[in-house]
Amino acid sequence: MGKLILENTSEIFRPSARAARTPASVTRDILKVIDTPGMISFAGGLPDDTLFPIQDLRNIFETSVSKKGAKLFQYADTQGYSDLRAWIADRYYPGSNADEILLTSGSQQALDLLSRYFIEEGSPILLERPSYLGAIQVFSSYAPSFIGISYGEEGPDMEELKYALKNSSERPKFFYCIPDFQNPSAYSYSLETRNSISELLLKNGIPILEDTAYRELYFEKELPTSLCELGPEHTVSIGTFSKTLAPGLRVGWIKAPKKIVQDLIVQKQSMDLHSPTLNQELVYGFVSSSKYEEHLSLIRKTYRQKSEHTHACLQKNFGDSIPLQISKGGLFYWLEFPEEIDTDLLFRKCLEKGLAAVPGSSFFVGKPERNHLRWNFSNASEEQTKLGVERLYKVYLEMVSNC
Ligand code: PMP
Repeated sequence: MGKLILENTSEIFRPSARAARTPASVTRDILKVIDTPGMISFAGGLPDDTLFPIQDLRNIFETSVSKKGAKLFQYADTQGYSDLRAWIADRYYPGSNADEILLTSGSQQALDLLSRYFIEEGSPILLERPSYLGAIQVFSSYAPSFIGISYGEEGPDMEELKYALKNSSERPKFFYCIPDFQNPSAYSYSLETRNSISELLLKNGIPILEDTAYRELYFEKELPTSLCELGPEHTVSIGTFSKTLAPGLRVGWIKAPKKIVQDLIVQKQSMDLHSPTLNQELVYGFVSSSKYEEHLSLIRKTYRQKSEHTHACLQKNFGDSIPLQISKGGLFYWLEFPEEIDTDLLFRKCLEKGLAAVPGSSFFVGKPERNHLRWNFSNASEEQTKLGVERLYKVYLEMVSNC
């Protein structure tokens, strides 16, 4: 029989509305162009891979495989490796236990599981403006209505939040927030804001979905108490080893009241049965050894130096033409340009000059602000940073002279 030639495959494959409304991630798109010769990228939130403790992970792999053998390659419990869950509970959530932790394939999967669990099509959810674009992406596929709350130096705007709570036609399903060195703004919540938010949301019966991805990456002092610690009964916290150890391991977690964890386990079963056993073993082997603290000190020191160098390069080029504050932690600078500079355009011009960073508009729900650029400082070398900032300044000057 001859092979049938189809004129138009879209008549056969008809993606669901959910697939159609999931926006492509800009950073993933940018990641595709960063291999262009001569391109320097500050776009992805990539940790410095020269810091990955490869030799230690190799040793743990060998010892664990000799000790545990086939067990590491067999199907395993959906909730994840109990020793690692107990370790996470003990370190990050005082007073909690392993039953309240579910291990996930990165915290991105945690966001998807929680969206599945909480979001109803058309129902409101609260989140910061700006917010993590990977969260906006996953939430979008579940079609909530977004209520954005401005995020400033001290945390979200409390008046805006109160107004939103008072005027929402339906009780929002949750408030998604990144209180520690936020991606993209690098802002954190003060203790006062943490207390007020936790109290206010409890009073209004709204769960908090706290994302702690950057909490360990402080350069000076630790951040105030987490929202989860302040209000464990109405907070779900997610975390990850992507920024502190290695993102390719894809090990993250959800901490939630036990009943919610039980429900989420069912959701995760239907999604992927469980996350890779071997990766959880490697993570546990490393974090439970004395090497983890040493490693955290090393990455904090290295990222602090990188952030200082970036700040010095920015200051040298831009002077006081844009506001610049030295970073206190996390992986990003959130560069603010004068209102008339459209960073979508700046971004395209930068790509032509061999420079990639992420335009700020991607991080907003609702009407975007268009004068920010997210600049990652953890991955590039000092020389690349110097060159990259010079390229950025050149493009900026060109745009200013055309305004
Ligand atoms: N939350 C935030 C705030 C992030 O920035 C990221 C990744 N950049 C994630 C979650 C997801 O990370 P992962 O899936 O690697 O844990």
